[in-house]
Amino acid sequence: MRVAFLGLGIMGQSMASNLVKAGHEVTVWNRTPGKLVEGAAVAPTPAAATQGAEVVWLCVSDTDAVEEVIFGKDGAALSLSEGAIIADSSTISPSATLKFAEKVAAKGVAWVDAPMTGSKIGARDGTLVFIVGGEEQNIERLKPLFAAMGKKIFRMGETGKGQATKLAMNLQIAMIYEGFAEALTLATKLGVDSQQLVSLIEATMVRSGVVEYKAPFVLQRDFTPNFPLRLMHKDIRLTLEAAKEARVKLPGLQTVEEIYELATEEGNKDLDYAATLTLLEKWAGVQVKGKAA
Ligand code: NAP
Repeated sequence: MRVAFLGLGIMGQSMASNLVKAGHEVTVWNRTPGKLVEGAAVAPTPAAATQGAEVVWLCVSDTDAVEEVIFGKDGAALSLSEGAIIADSSTISPSATLKFAEKVAAKGVAWVDAPMTGSKIGARDGTLVFIVGGEEQNIERLKPLFAAMGKKIFRMGETGKGQATKLAMNLQIAMIYEGFAEALTLATKLGVDSQQLVSLIEATMVRSGVVEYKAPFVLQRDFTPNFPLRLMHKDIRLTLEAAKEARVKLPGLQTVEEIYELATEEGNKDLDYAATLTLLEKWAGVQVKGKAA
């Protein structure tokens, strides 16, 4: 398929590369020039990348970035062809998604929200799980592209439902990780060995995919970003906004948001979100001992 891929960050670069490897004709664009994908053409603007594309796949930071890339100066909307599909793998606001979808529908273009989970490693290995909202027939058309980048697709309903579900998923990731970080901090303060604690967690019902993924990084004190703290913070804020719009109270997540706010003030926004642990450690006056310790 002819695909315009817009946004070559931690996730987008690997995703676009997997589309090329699967034999699709890919043209890439990134706001900051110089990011390349082997085998893909490079366009100077989103509008140029979109010229003649059957599918425009987005993977940018947030709601404002999506709006700018599609509807801004030199945005993709200027050259969308009738019958094209926009697939958005950024995590953004569900209500803004509906507004964007309505705007492009006037041009005969469909919007499929396709946020994903699987992080940097899932993007690299083509094992992402896509959480999708949109018309069945459009999702069907995108299947070869989903297959090149991921291992599973869950259709959650009409356009917007993918983003809504993604927020409900990240709410849990943020809170499960915070529970793990608090447990590690308390146990360390009380003199318990952190490696032993992780082994116990893995052997009991407390275990989780989040802990399984994060524990090795945490125990090696490797906070290089797989999922940057600033992006998880953005997702927490989006979730709280969506909850407010829906008149739902999320007191647990509200508290976690404060921790992200303080971690950002500490200068940790570009580290992995696992670095929220360092704030708890600072308050407790301890440091969780890693594997090598
Ligand atoms: P990232 O590495 O920070 O990359 C962000 C991308 O968005 C870059 O290409 C950046 O361009 C572009 N961008 C930001 N603001 C822009 C604007 N105003 N106009 C145009 N382009 C703009 O982020 P990522 O980790 O790839 O994440 C991308 C999306 O996927 C986010 O919505 C994130 O929440 C979601 N996500 C990430 C993960 C993960 O583990 N990393 C997992 C699931 C979902 P520049 O290069 O010019 O800065």
